Amino acid sequence: MVEWHDIVWFKNVVSRHSFLLWMAVQQKLTTQDRLHRFGIHGPNRCSLCLRNNEDHNHLFFECSYTKAIWWDVCDRCDIPRMTKGWDEWIRWATVTWHGKSFVNFSRKLSFAATVYHVWQERNARIFAGMSRTSNLVFNQIECIIRDKLDLMRNVLPINENERIQRAWRVNNIDS
Ligand SMILES: [Zn+2]
Repeated sequence: MVEWHDIVWFKNVVSRHSFLLWMAVQQKLTTQDRLHRFGIHGPNRCSLCLRNNEDHNHLFFECSYTKAIWWDVCDRCDIPRMTKGWDEWIRWATVTWHGKSFVNFSRKLSFAATVYHVWQERNARIFAGMSRTSNLVFNQIECIIRDKLDLMRNVLPINENERIQRAWRVNNIDS
């Protein structure tokens, strides 16, 4: 079984997020650099920052637009802001988020949701001519993570769990 399997497929996943992450981890999404390799030529420019070429590493890691979202997500998930490349980040997450704790569940959930929504935003810009700020995309991710964490029952009332619940503004934490 491939190493990153556990950070992509896990109990209580949002399946559409996991599927997209599964594609992104393998660098199989139809980013513009891949279209070029398939012989489909057009401008290769990241639709999020409008500055760099689009490939998986740029789109999901290096892009200033994506980074702004990641850093908010990292802060909420109580993990260091990512400084390595896309591949390194996946390797780090695979090793570090091992196990089924609530904290690691929230990190894996947030990771998949972020990748999914960055890809959605990219597609909305390319195919529908619609664009949103990174703050708006983060707000959407936040709603999804909060709702999902809110449904989790029997979360141990320990500091590290409560810190995550408060960071994502989970409703049932103080009730
Ligand atoms: Zn970019």
